[in-house]
Amino acid sequence: MLNHRATSFLAILVLLVLAIAHQFVPLWMGWYLLVALLWLGITVYGSFTLRSNYFLTAVTQGPSTAKKVAITFDDGPNSTYTPQVLQLLAQYNAKATFFCIGKRLESQIDLAKQMVAAGHELGNHSYSHSWFFDFFGKKRVTNELKRTNALVSEVSKQSNDLFRPPYGVTNPAIAKAISETNNTVVGWNVRSFDTVSKDPKAVINRLTKKVQPGAIILLHDSHDRIQSILEHLLLFLQQQGYEMVTVNELLYDS
Ligand SMILES: [Zn+2]
Repeated sequence: MLNHRATSFLAILVLLVLAIAHQFVPLWMGWYLLVALLWLGITVYGSFTLRSNYFLTAVTQGPSTAKKVAITFDDGPNSTYTPQVLQLLAQYNAKATFFCIGKRLESQIDLAKQMVAAGHELGNHSYSHSWFFDFFGKKRVTNELKRTNALVSEVSKQSNDLFRPPYGVTNPAIAKAISETNNTVVGWNVRSFDTVSKDPKAVINRLTKKVQPGAIILLHDSHDRIQSILEHLLLFLQQQGYEMVTVNELLYDS
């Protein structure tokens, strides 16, 4: 798969060849635009597709050898919905990974401690989760990662390097920040669209169709449909004989 550096190099090379050829033969100017548009299209696709490993290497699934899945929750902790999620996870003897927004984690330290005490794992989902996060420079992204890493370590009492980029978007600034903080970037291979879809049944159908051994499932503990969605999902996984584990356990203990 092409990465950002190789794609950019190739685009510049083709543009140079076109410019040189242009000296000797008449050339349609649209070729330049086509190369630029192709580069842009690939780069936008790479930005929005973590599994393409375009800007950085991301983990998007575990080994399929054991019947284990990792359920992950983004955008919490939330004082209303996270406790509901914790109760359900306990009921089904499931462990999960929570990619926390640093500023929310800071204001919900006791809740976060409960999550860790129950055997769940905390990960980093930036400090601000700002709408403009993908326009921040390397320094600002690095600061956000370090600040939330410190909070996660403080609450977990152990270093945990998991990071999920807000909106699943990556870019050169995030890639440079990661090379400094050394976080492990975690994506998913089963997306629920639980924040977009208002119909829990449609979300559950999508999830149950896509689940397979080694899956990393993306959910959010930040909305009022999560309780119903999670209960159906956990029941399905239990009936199918799946073990619900943390991302680290999925990746390294299978
Ligand atoms: Zn998010």
